[in-house]
Amino acid sequence: MSRTPLIGMAAALALVTTTAACGSGAAETSQGGPPDVVAAFYPMQWLTQQVGGSDVKLTVLTAPGVEPHDLELGPQQVAMLDRAALTVYVKGLQPAVDDAVAQYGADKGFDAATAVKTLPLTDKSENTDVAYDPHVWLDPSRMATVATKLGERLATADPAHAQAYKDRAASTAAALGALDQEYAKALATCQTKTLVTSHAAFGYVADRYHLKQVGITLDPEQEPSPTRILEVAKLAKSEGVTTIFTESLVSPKVAEVLATEVGARTQVLDPLESKPDGDYLSAMRKNLDSLKSALRCS
Ligand SMILES: [Zn+2]
Repeated sequence: MSRTPLIGMAAALALVTTTAACGSGAAETSQGGPPDVVAAFYPMQWLTQQVGGSDVKLTVLTAPGVEPHDLELGPQQVAMLDRAALTVYVKGLQPAVDDAVAQYGADKGFDAATAVKTLPLTDKSENTDVAYDPHVWLDPSRMATVATKLGERLATADPAHAQAYKDRAASTAAALGALDQEYAKALATCQTKTLVTSHAAFGYVADRYHLKQVGITLDPEQEPSPTRILEVAKLAKSEGVTTIFTESLVSPKVAEVLATEVGARTQVLDPLESKPDGDYLSAMRKNLDSLKSALRCS
């Protein structure tokens, strides 16, 4: 997306200042059409599409290919968030979204992290103010819970379509439950349980399926020290690790250095922070295939 022209920004700013004082909380649209719902980034977009269907008018804040942690909001996006009946996000993942939701009515925010049991943040590299790990969407069972609660929330915001939201939430939760079963079955018996990754986004996968995540980088502002690389290499060797995971949005350099040290290969494991080639379910299945081969599961 190109930069907002100045005149558009001025108009959007005026909109922000005139509507901010109203603070309307309920689902209301000026034209009486479907309620505006904002999804902060891809997994919340997918979930809102599944549960909201054609009963909501969905807008996504994070464009494909953008690193969601670093998202900054333009005035028009902030204005849209102010107009929306609901913003679906994960508090702690995107500070700019957290700030905008806090400013324009937390009563219009649906924070997926509050819907599930969170894990403590172990990777200090996440640029966040919260004490928990925000990557909750990578566990299908937690996503199923989020789907159910999102259905209830949309039903409250738009009572005319309450049953449709609840029905779609139930079928989405069922699809996620089936995915959870596939993960549990496929990862039950593996030769190694250690998952070495450049971006420690997979703590919920590790928690749910009894794996152990080792993040290479502890601070994103710095390359990991040679000491850290040797430390992880030693651990990886002793635990029979043959694959170092990397991701498409960041440079694979660190993972490659480590892989050479260990005598392992690198492979992409998608944290789904940006829109994948398929959808959430197909990308999660692709991740499962990668995990199965990397951990040598039978
Ligand atoms: Zn992340």
